[in-house]
Amino acid sequence: MKFLQKYKRLYKLRKKVENCKKCNLYKSRTNVVFGEGNIDTKIIFIGESPGFWEDREGKPFVGPSGKFLNKLLQPIKLNRKDIFITSVLKCRPVEGKRNRSPKQDEIEACKPYLLEQIEIISPKLIVLLGNVALKALFPNEKLTVSEIHGKEIKQNNRIYFPTFHPSAAMRFPNVRRKMEEDFKKLKVVINKVS
Ligand code: URA
Ligand code: SF4
Repeated sequence: MKFLQKYKRLYKLRKKVENCKKCNLYKSRTNVVFGEGNIDTKIIFIGESPGFWEDREGKPFVGPSGKFLNKLLQPIKLNRKDIFITSVLKCRPVEGKRNRSPKQDEIEACKPYLLEQIEIISPKLIVLLGNVALKALFPNEKLTVSEIHGKEIKQNNRIYFPTFHPSAAMRFPNVRRKMEEDFKKLKVVINKVS
């Protein structure tokens, strides 16, 4: 697809998502977090759902887990401007004042937007950050990211690369080490697709 056509389709989709009321999360959101980055990229990163800071700014991965993700990208010289970043849910799941995990019905309601983003951007490589992203795209996968992180899944001329969610790596040093190792492997995969 030509850049302009991609741009137009994503713009239309963004407007649609910004007005979405398909699940209850529209009631509590401040901003929809559609995703951002290079729409002509070969690489999409998919997280779980917006948190407090993302909801406030309307941008993905701008809070603590975003800062941590930046630290993982730096050593492999991957610039956020060269990739597209989004999450499975586009609105923040909240309980009281705290972030919570997405519910299955929210994932099902929101997933078509993610699939359309992928279709339009048409990346060669999709990095799945955590189990929510893994299970959203591979519903029949029995294994978790702890078991298949850092291993390429090849499907339909595309590579999927499951790894941990930055918020898990932030909290647990052993996960952090594994995720840093995964990112070294990711660099090799990136060189292969670019
Ligand atoms: N965690 C996610 O999965 N997505 C964000 O945008 C922020 C934190
Ligand atoms: Fe719509 Fe997704 Fe937001 Fe739910 S989370 S209201 S499905 S955009």
